Amino acid sequence: MNSRIPAPGMVGSLGDKQFDNSFVRALPADPNLQNVPRAVRNACYTRVDPTPVRLPRLLAWSEHAGQLLGISRPDSDEGLVSEVLGGNRVLPGMQPYAARYGGHQFGHWAGQLGDGRAITLAELWSVDGKRHDLQLKGAGSTPYSRTADGRAVLRSSVREFMCSEAMHHLGIPSTRALSLVATGDAVVRDMFYDGNPQAEPGAIVCRVAPSFIRFGNFEILAANEELELLKQLADYVIGEHFAELGAPSARVYALWFEEICRRTAMLVAHWMRVGFVHGVMNTDNMSILGLTIDYGPYGWLEGYDLQWTPNTTDAQGRRYCYGNQPHIAQWNLVRLANALAPLMANTSALEQGLAVFVETFENASNQMLADKLGLASIAQEGDEKLLGELFKLLQSVETDMTLFFRLLAKVPAAQTAQDGALLTPLRRAFYDEGAFAPSQQARLAAWLRSFGARVRQEQVPEKSRMERMNLANPKYVLRNYLAQQAIDALAQGDASMLTRLMAVLERPYDEQPAHDELAERRPEWARHKPGCSALSCSS
Ligand code: AMP
Ligand code: MG
Repeated sequence: MNSRIPAPGMVGSLGDKQFDNSFVRALPADPNLQNVPRAVRNACYTRVDPTPVRLPRLLAWSEHAGQLLGISRPDSDEGLVSEVLGGNRVLPGMQPYAARYGGHQFGHWAGQLGDGRAITLAELWSVDGKRHDLQLKGAGSTPYSRTADGRAVLRSSVREFMCSEAMHHLGIPSTRALSLVATGDAVVRDMFYDGNPQAEPGAIVCRVAPSFIRFGNFEILAANEELELLKQLADYVIGEHFAELGAPSARVYALWFEEICRRTAMLVAHWMRVGFVHGVMNTDNMSILGLTIDYGPYGWLEGYDLQWTPNTTDAQGRRYCYGNQPHIAQWNLVRLANALAPLMANTSALEQGLAVFVETFENASNQMLADKLGLASIAQEGDEKLLGELFKLLQSVETDMTLFFRLLAKVPAAQTAQDGALLTPLRRAFYDEGAFAPSQQARLAAWLRSFGARVRQEQVPEKSRMERMNLANPKYVLRNYLAQQAIDALAQGDASMLTRLMAVLERPYDEQPAHDELAERRPEWARHKPGCSALSCSS
């Protein structure tokens, strides 16, 4: 074991930690240290320090992410830790940098993008013996900022901070968040893209992940035919993050791509299970480790609707809507396959990987759907028809996805159950009065009866079935209107909603009856209120 790995349970202050910089050590840096926007060549990153802010103040801290890293919450909201996590101080041993990457945005090659406002400070060994990057988002401009300011507003930072941790607690791979720091500086954003820019409070999230490398880090090298560097980056990623595959070789590159496809398939299957919509699945927002990365205009389905997207910028094309996510993940993997092709002996390895994506996604999403329904599998005769009718029903009237599946566990499976007993547990899931029309009620009751018959075949005691369903169907998700309430309160200096939500979202599958109101349908006032349902990309 590496001697730098701290013994589990060694918790200390950020200021006392020893930092590592394996990415910087292993890969070539941009020799130009000028922090001005430009095209960077033959390098994986540019060394750049965060730009100091006026008054860094710690607004929120994730105890869980702190525990992972063995860092205790600082005693004070101002002082060394907020200075470091606000970008005003670089600790000895840190070698901050912005990574170079490109990407396909909305289906088109966009060329160089890169960390335009994220700066990785250093790596830290976590208590479970893995190296983790500490990355500040909103830490000031870098050579990759293009025409933008390198900053982030409070609202988008709160959303990223909360959702990173909420995803982790849902059991979905994600980058994590350690801290949220107010900068004391204003950031100007045209939130509605209507020519009316406003000053908003700025903030910085410290993100944490074993790596923030994206598909786009490889794409930019392939696009510029920097093939030596492409190999060097691939070898670094395999050595650091896929070491179990063995030393890099043509065979290992093939296995590696297959594993990326497998992880991406699992990731998207989980998103579909909980009704999460990423909102901006550009290839620069796809993690090479299969993590949820870059929380922007994301959201959870409220009414079940395959076409729904939280991203107002995508309202026309709906490229990144809920139902399209598996297809887009595959499309993005094809872009990655093209970028990695120069490393491969032939394209069959890449085709094999893409086939693994399809197979893994199908198997995983079928199993997750079975779990959601409390069934061992959905492979029996008649299951396809049962599911087909369910999804038709869910879309025929506006039905809250989270509530419907969670409440379905409460519907009796007994043959003798009357229509009223079948329907009553589900009432809270409907937004649309049409759901209570007699014809719709009869249709739903008929489905519930068929479902009950199918459930009885499993011969699982009611209690175990319910417990199993509850583990697949979260009760609490970070609905956008709840996040917005936390943001509004925090902007007034009140962190209580954020703290409460973070605590509840640590146990999303538990009942927690004291917090029932956080598991209700989105109220009607929130349907069209900015930030409460759909969002713009402005952040
Ligand atoms: P995103 O849509 O947040 O994934 O960002 C796409 C690209 O734009 C990335 O290269 C970001 O670093 C860059 N970017 C987004 N916002 C800013 C900003 N305020 N300042 C500099 N670069 C930004
Ligand atoms: Mg991004």
